[in-house]
Amino acid sequence: MKLQEFHAKSLLRAAGLPVPPWSVATTPAEVRQQASDYLRDGAGRVVVKAQVLVGGRGKAGGVKLAASADEAEAVGRAILGMDIKGITVRRVLVAPAADIVSEFYLAATLDRAAQRILVMGSAEGGVEIEQVAAQRPEAIVRVHAHPLLGLFDFQARELAFALGLGGTHLRSAVALAKGLVACLLANDADLVEVNPLAIVRERAPDGTEGLALQCLDAKVTLDDSGLPRHPDLAALRDLDEEDPTDAAARAEGLSFIKLAGNIGCMVNGAGLAMTTMDLVQRAGGQPANFLDIGGGARADKVAAAMRLILADPNVQAILVNIFGGITRGDEVARGLIEARGQQSREVPMVVRIVGTNAREAAAILEAAAFETASSLDDAAEKAVAAARRATAA
Ligand code: GDP
Ligand code: MN
Repeated sequence: MKLQEFHAKSLLRAAGLPVPPWSVATTPAEVRQQASDYLRDGAGRVVVKAQVLVGGRGKAGGVKLAASADEAEAVGRAILGMDIKGITVRRVLVAPAADIVSEFYLAATLDRAAQRILVMGSAEGGVEIEQVAAQRPEAIVRVHAHPLLGLFDFQARELAFALGLGGTHLRSAVALAKGLVACLLANDADLVEVNPLAIVRERAPDGTEGLALQCLDAKVTLDDSGLPRHPDLAALRDLDEEDPTDAAARAEGLSFIKLAGNIGCMVNGAGLAMTTMDLVQRAGGQPANFLDIGGGARADKVAAAMRLILADPNVQAILVNIFGGITRGDEVARGLIEARGQQSREVPMVVRIVGTNAREAAAILEAAAFETASSLDDAAEKAVAAARRATAA
């Protein structure tokens, strides 16, 4: 689950990281009010930023500076309602604009291959890190935190020096690197990213100028499996920006991931679902989705799963592969019949059900004239052939 920037910034603040003040507005008038407060309190300019869960808002025109209340209101009017990569902007973040000297990238993320938390930094901040990784991979510095002891000070210092943040910024950079790891752990996050982390020019009330590191942007992705431990964070989910299929799958308790192929897969168990996808590929087809209906699924859940699969217009054939344990084959078979009754369009289906109540399932499916398969290989081949016929037709 992705968090909006203003929520992510709250988590960074809570972890003790330096984030400039901000507020959130939903109308141009609110933008004007908030901007005039910051300008009155000494800000030279304000920044108005679209709050949408996609990257590259800056490039898309969703981040703009304003030097007066009038300008802020106009900028707010331009950004609110704007379409950024298919998402309508409903909220903006308003903040005193930072006077940026240089921009860095700093993030903590889960490195599954290394089974550790990875802290990544780059002196080439502000731009998309994927671009840096592709063009100049050597410009990204990586250190792994110890699974029990966390990120050591010496590691954080090495990272800071490698980014050119030695000297006056060293202490702050070390605290930032360690803070990102702490923030990731505290919230069961997969990613805590600051881009840009910026050296900004700050003017104290007495007029003296100094430089400081500030987190100007924040992106946090939470591990969905950790959400039950964080009901307050789970409540921040932005349903307006979620893919309707994902929301429906979650509501039904189904584990569903849409893929690019044309063979819909309905399977019980994540491992079996992966195997099924492999066999579809081996038979020369491409799975349209990963779908685990879970153990003990009843007829209504099967029907819900079928609706999800059929909602994808690319699906040309459906492969149902059930290994009955606590899931009863006859329940699934009844669910399939119910689903077919509600089906909005005709899509060939191949069903393989083994295990608990497989014999009852076979009788039900036969009576309803479903195409069945004896083995998983057989089922995959039949589904791929059916999809080919549908594509040719
Ligand atoms: P993103 O494009 O979605 O990643 O949005 P960011 O918040 O990272 O903003 C994009 C760019 O806008 C940054 O890299 C900065 O160059 C610029 N920007 C963002 N906030 C400020 C600010 O407070 N002051 C100034 N001068 N520029 C900013
Ligand atoms: Mn950014």
